Amino acid sequence: MIEILNSSELVRARATGALVADVLYSLRDRVEVGTNLLDVDRWAQQMILEAGAVSCYVDYAPAFGNGPFGHYICTSVNDAVLHGLPHDYALADGDLLSLDLAVSLDGVVADSAISFTVGTTQRPEDAALVDATQRALQAGIAAAGPGAKVGDISHAIGRVLGDDGYRVNTQFGGHGVGSTMHQDPHISNDGRPGRGYKLRPGLLLALEPWVMLDTDELVTDADGWTLRSATGCRTAHSEHTVAITEDGAEIMTLPPADRG
Ligand code: MG
Repeated sequence: MIEILNSSELVRARATGALVADVLYSLRDRVEVGTNLLDVDRWAQQMILEAGAVSCYVDYAPAFGNGPFGHYICTSVNDAVLHGLPHDYALADGDLLSLDLAVSLDGVVADSAISFTVGTTQRPEDAALVDATQRALQAGIAAAGPGAKVGDISHAIGRVLGDDGYRVNTQFGGHGVGSTMHQDPHISNDGRPGRGYKLRPGLLLALEPWVMLDTDELVTDADGWTLRSATGCRTAHSEHTVAITEDGAEIMTLPPADRG
């Protein structure tokens, strides 16, 4: 299903997006060496519930997962890249942490992800991975607008990642957002320009380039949820929810420091 949001729904999408970004950046500020992933999950839960929002994750039980997710945020560390199940692990200096969060507020969902280094010791390859996903995300957003096709976004994202020498996995990618977290259209992180669904104002999309240092293959962790790089290499993920407007695309999940 593809939903086209009306103007009042877009106002609510902005509010949901601001909440998601506030939670993500608050967690980034709070996380330090020694922080347990279960604390990150608990802090996310507190902020989501205090805001009167509903978690999209707690009861999430897709065919590929291992029953309901049961947590409020995805915490993927180092070789884990997607759907990281919070567990009893204390973060170490230099860990590369990806946080992915989707909530519903007043009936509209927003979805965003950030990757960052814990502590003070950042590997150069980690910085490069995070930078590549951020630039790919910006390229995808720049390619999004009324009249553009989904393939234009995919191509823009894939070109940035490919030009940096990464192989792109197309099993998991972006998606439509609206009254629920996952809707059509699917937005692959690589593809051919000019192909696919034509974008229209009011369409809400989650764009989410993610990348692994030396492979495009995933393996599923024993927890049934966490997806890791098949080689154990480092990974990163950047995601924004954007709305297609009359003349481009508006980012709903801007960091607090970038909002007016
Ligand atoms: Mg997400």
